[in-house]
Amino acid sequence: MKTAVIYARYSSASQTEQSIEGQLHVCNQYAKANDLIVVDTYIDRATTGTNDNRAAFQQMLKDSETSVWEVVLVYAIDRFGRNSIEVAINKQRLKNNKKVLIFATQRTSENLDGTKNLDGILLENVYIGIAEYYSAELSQKILRGLKESRRKGQFCGGKVPYGYYVKDKKLHIDEEKAKIVRFIYEQYSAGVYVPKIICKLNEKGIFHNGKPFLPNAIYGILRNKRYVGVTEIRNEIYDNIYPQIVPKELFDKIKRKLAKNKLGSRSVKEIYLLRNKVKCGYCGHPISAECGTAKNGDVKRYYKCIGRKKYRNGCKKYSIRKDALENLVLDGVIQAMQDEKTINSLIRGLMQMQEKLNEERTTLKLLEKEKKQTQTALDNIIKAIERGIMSDSTNKRLHELETQIRDLDERIAVEQNKVAFALTEDDIRRYYLTALKQEPQLLINCLVKEITLYDDKMIITYNTPLNEGSDENRGFSFY
Ligand SMILES: [Zn+2]
Repeated sequence: MKTAVIYARYSSASQTEQSIEGQLHVCNQYAKANDLIVVDTYIDRATTGTNDNRAAFQQMLKDSETSVWEVVLVYAIDRFGRNSIEVAINKQRLKNNKKVLIFATQRTSENLDGTKNLDGILLENVYIGIAEYYSAELSQKILRGLKESRRKGQFCGGKVPYGYYVKDKKLHIDEEKAKIVRFIYEQYSAGVYVPKIICKLNEKGIFHNGKPFLPNAIYGILRNKRYVGVTEIRNEIYDNIYPQIVPKELFDKIKRKLAKNKLGSRSVKEIYLLRNKVKCGYCGHPISAECGTAKNGDVKRYYKCIGRKKYRNGCKKYSIRKDALENLVLDGVIQAMQDEKTINSLIRGLMQMQEKLNEERTTLKLLEKEKKQTQTALDNIIKAIERGIMSDSTNKRLHELETQIRDLDERIAVEQNKVAFALTEDDIRRYYLTALKQEPQLLINCLVKEITLYDDKMIITYNTPLNEGSDENRGFSFY
């Protein structure tokens, strides 16, 4: 028996949305069928569109660092994140904490015992694509509405930055706090370090929610572009939403200073795309990512052979710049995936998987089973009533069961429709070609198994269940 938590999310942007109760129900059924003990549930109710603060989700991620439960159970992948990058990053976070992510209605890239399910990896890509597509389509209306409001200068939700307050749908400057914002900018500009700024604020008796400012809060303020009065949202520039608190020249000066200050940029987390995937071609040790500071203070990121660096095995492998290697691999993968033969075999495999999945129809079967059980319960109540047992509680129960059956019928209809809306070969092809251009990172994550790196060539081994192939790329020019 393994322990699990359930995460459920409801978004009012979608018309075909599964209710929280429905999601919980399917997850609980899955847990029962797979010997999982559900120890906790995390629920985010009614967050609209792609506006994503998801407090319960964040809490779940946080708890995953310290809790002993082993599995996160989610109704479907689109509950877990709105886009593939987000999904990939958060999944990695769970994985780092040794948690397994399972989707109750879909096959996933990882099995309950933590082994990889390669079919699932590919299918997951397609599901993410579809979830994104629908999310984008359904939230378009909402976005149009938001754009209208923003053009009128209205504040459309989200966190109100320090120094502002909302009144009549618009942001106004909180003069007391705006003074503090300017003080922080001026101090930093004059070369005062952040801990010292915090001391000065404390001495003045200025606190944030009753406590001294945290360094991150100060950096957050120093980095907040909105204080200059201009903001960019979805490729539109608005200068009528945030009244200006900090002069642009001062902000730009701080920006340059921050870029040079290592401490200030530490909170920005760098993603190493190829972590745990690269192997040294000469000595066979892993090539790991690391970060160093050049003499002029610039941060440089590298992939280095561990054999050479840590074990001093005499390996002569040069280290390679992070972005150079990552771009090279991206190019290699994109090129390989654009090969007509590869695309065709991928698509064939995906079509087969889809068929298999539709045959299995897990959700539909679960729903049908539940309907049968509910129907039996309903029949029993009716029999009891026929025998003359009639009370407020039987009446109430009768009503409940009837509502449940209506609800189940609806959900069964939706599931049945899903099969009718199966992806065509064209859909999959289109999705792949788009994903290749827009989110190659995700494909690398899922498709690249290993990269063997030499100084003048690399061999990429792919992870596909269809053709365990590898590619050789020769002739580097960036050493
Ligand atoms: Zn080596």
